[in-house]
Amino acid sequence: SFPSSVSTLSIFILQAYKVDEKAAEQARWEEASKETIKKTTKPCPRCHVPVEKNGGCMHMKCPQPQCQLEWCWTCSCEWNRTCMGDHWFDV
Ligand SMILES: [Zn+2]
Ligand SMILES: [Zn+2]
Repeated sequence: SFPSSVSTLSIFILQAYKVDEKAAEQARWEEASKETIKKTTKPCPRCHVPVEKNGGCMHMKCPQPQCQLEWCWTCSCEWNRTCMGDHWFDV
């Protein structure tokens, strides 16, 4: 009958909405953690291992024992004189 189909439909919508909400929340959370990882790690320019940024210093050192490249967070290249003058700290 008409009333029962309406209530079935509204329950269906409510459940679908709840699932959506949960999925959206999960997606937001994943997006936020991805953003955090993106902001605090960058790949080493030589061996591409993810390196975590440490404070406001732009002078990075690769943690891989066989690499240990010193590089610039801003330029994503090997540490050089320009970086030493301009990129030592976050502006
Ligand atoms: Zn490296
Ligand atoms: Zn630089």
